[in-house]
Amino acid sequence: MFIAEFQEVGRDLFTRGLVSSHGGNMSMRFGDRLLITRRGAKLGHLTELDLIETGIERNDRATPTASSELAVHRAIYQSTQAHAVLHAHPPYALALSFLVDELVPIDAEGRDLLEQVPIIGTEVIARVRDVLEEVVASLETHKVVIVRGHGTFARGQLLDEAHRWTSLLEESCKIASIVRFMGGSGKMPGKSKVSRSASAILRA
Ligand SMILES: [Zn+2]
Repeated sequence: MFIAEFQEVGRDLFTRGLVSSHGGNMSMRFGDRLLITRRGAKLGHLTELDLIETGIERNDRATPTASSELAVHRAIYQSTQAHAVLHAHPPYALALSFLVDELVPIDAEGRDLLEQVPIIGTEVIARVRDVLEEVVASLETHKVVIVRGHGTFARGQLLDEAHRWTSLLEESCKIASIVRFMGGSGKMPGKSKVSRSASAILRA
């Protein structure tokens, strides 16, 4: 019944380059159960066999076949009002996560809708299980977060909403990266530094 929603979002994520062929995962919550993509599923080519139903609190026979990020999805549902969770590997967002500690979009839509996006993890490549509590706590107040060097976790009432925040974040990161490239040595993307880069372009 929900396969069409998973397929539409998965296809968009893959074709837009927000996940690799077998990367990323997503889920929807139904009471104390969730529907999550299978471990190693190709999000761009999902079938009904790629959706695994299991418990939010309890394991069952299907649990071992669920996405390797099942623990993160469960923890987010246990602590937030989310009904959908999406994990992706957007390249511009990941690239910026190596350079800065938080991201403030410089474009109007990104700033209006995302405001500020936490980058979680002190290691160059953070392991999600080491920063699980921080991811969950940040998603209580933010729509999307970045785990440094790994990927994004977004929440929504629908998969499409979590997809929207992921897509918007990547667009904002792409714009910020282009501004940095055009502005030369300006560092990214603290508010003031980005403003300097942008004003340098306007003067040029
Ligand atoms: Zn991942």
